[in-house]
Parts: sequence; structure tokens; C-alpha cells
Amino acid sequence: MNTCPVCGYEGLELPYTEDGNICSSCGTEFGYDDLLNSREELRRRWLQAGAVWWDATMPRPADWSVDHLVRQLRNVGYQLASTERMAIEAERLNNTQLAELPSMLKYPVEVTHRD
Ligand SMILES: [Zn+2]
Repeated sequence: MNTCPVCGYEGLELPYTEDGNICSSCGTEFGYDDLLNSREELRRRWLQAGAVWWDATMPRPADWSVDHLVRQLRNVGYQLASTERMAIEAERLNNTQLAELPSMLKYPVEVTHRD
């Protein structure tokens, strides 16, 4: 396995120097995206969009938390800024967790008190 130079994902099947290799994590297509944009720019865009797992045909890592992302980015020497972290957490909450909230949280039950 090889490491993606954009997002630090360690599961690339081929080295990123192979054209057409696409990172399952950030979706960078090597030999195309990285010719048009710097790695920093690709990383910035991916983070800004909420650092979403890109490859729908491949299961994302079981631990795809923001803490996992912080560790993954260290592979490429990138430290997630606290403002980026907050933006990613908010984006994830909007996109996924809202739909997963238990219905009782969405429709609070009235609590009656008995003496
Ligand atoms: Zn990547």
C-alpha cells in the first residue's frame, strides 16, 4: 500500500506516480488533478468540502472520525487547523449525523412529573 501525498491516506494500491491512480479518500486522480492543481490546493478544497470519503464503491475506514483524519494528515506533514476542524465537524453533522439522530431527539417526548 502507498500513501496519498494530498490527504495522507495509506491505502493507495498503486504509487501516486502511476497516472490514473485515484485516491479513495480524497478522490485525487494522479496524473490529472495534480497536474492542474498543487497538492496543497487539492488538500485545501477537500478539507473545505468536509473531507468526505470519496470512493463510494469502497468502504471507508471503520474509524473515519476527525481524530482519524488528523492522524492521516500527519502522514503528509499537515496539521489540521482548529478552524478547519470545526468546519469539518459542522459539515459532517449537517450531512450525516442529522439523519442518524434517534427520533426521540428530533421529537422530544414530554416528561410528566409524578409526586
Ligand atoms: Zn488522498
